Amino acid sequence: MRKAGSVVWEAHKIAAGMLQPGVTTAEVDAAVERCFQESDAESLFKGYPGRVPFPAVTCMSVNEEVVHGIPGSRKLVEGDIVSIDTGCKVNGWCGDAAVTHPIGEVDPEVRRLLDITRGVLDLAIELMGTKSLWSEVAEEMQTFVRDAGFSVVENFVGHGIGRQMHEDPQVPNFANEHFRRTGDFRLLPGRVLAVEPMVNMGKKRVRVQTDHWTQSTADGKPSAHFEHTIAITESGTDVLTAGPNGEGWEAYAE
Ligand code: MG
Repeated sequence: MRKAGSVVWEAHKIAAGMLQPGVTTAEVDAAVERCFQESDAESLFKGYPGRVPFPAVTCMSVNEEVVHGIPGSRKLVEGDIVSIDTGCKVNGWCGDAAVTHPIGEVDPEVRRLLDITRGVLDLAIELMGTKSLWSEVAEEMQTFVRDAGFSVVENFVGHGIGRQMHEDPQVPNFANEHFRRTGDFRLLPGRVLAVEPMVNMGKKRVRVQTDHWTQSTADGKPSAHFEHTIAITESGTDVLTAGPNGEGWEAYAE
């Protein structure tokens, strides 16, 4: 899983290096696909079953698009934000990560949305090493986002990951009574989770677009998404998609 995670990190680095006004989301997707081919990695996204199979190796979600955006001929422009999500399998094991990038200068409130979303993932990683139940982590994530004046998306959640991209358990970025009763789980060494908070500047509600994949905010306000594949170890956590030296997004997020 460490190998798959490092290929995912490499792909994100290549994608980030291409981002500038005028580039299309399809061009970025093609570069990630080449990276996977050169690394003998298999895309987890291309062909993913749905009403229509997902057609690309990345999800590229721009501005009010939350997740599952389909790369295409859209040219990014100054002031946009773009969430890139991608995953691959290497030697039978999976890695999955997402990051939202600003294109040039963005509105200060949008900048804050990115900082809070990245911050809530960092918070989750820190808490996973100390809490015993996921609901304790999720509750603090929800409070962190709410205190910032934003909304956690509830329609989509993180997941266990291993031989398959989506394994049990479901990993919500919020905790309610129903989850505590029916879905909560212990943070035991050996578990690997894809934790992926999606944060909306406005309300939490999302709706699917006519392409059957792209999920957008119902109120049209921007949304951000950060994700890492994280192993729980005896001594804390190990972020498998943070790069060979644990660089995280620092190496390329700006
Ligand atoms: Mg995921």
